[in-house]
Amino acid sequence: MHEVSVAESLLKTVVEQAAAHNCTRIEKIILRIGRASGVVSEALVFAFDALKPGTMAENAVIEVMDVPVAGKCETCGSDFSVEEKYVLACPSCGSPSFVITSGRELELSELEVY
Ligand SMILES: [Zn+2]
Repeated sequence: MHEVSVAESLLKTVVEQAAAHNCTRIEKIILRIGRASGVVSEALVFAFDALKPGTMAENAVIEVMDVPVAGKCETCGSDFSVEEKYVLACPSCGSPSFVITSGRELELSELEVY
C-alpha cells in the first residue's frame, strides 16, 4: 500500500522538524493533498495513526486540506478547476492543450509542536 510509505516518510519528516526546533510533542499536522496526487487521505491518516505510537507524534492529529485539480488552458487562456481527479480537456473550450497548476501536491502545510 502506497500510503504506508508516504506515512512513514511523513512521520520521519515531522519528527525531524520538531526535533530541529527543540520540541518534544507534535500536536497537529496539516497536510495539503491534491486530488490527483494518487494518495487516499483516509488511508494515509490510518497508516500514520498505526505508526505514531511511541514517537513524538503519538498524540498528533492530522488535518487534511483537499486541493482540487486546477489548470490553465494554453488555447483560450482560462484558469479552471475541476471536481474530477483528471482533466482531459479545457472545460471552457475543449482544447487538450493545458497545464496542470495544482492538484498533484502532497505537502506538509503546517506543524503544531510544543
Ligand atoms: Zn480553453
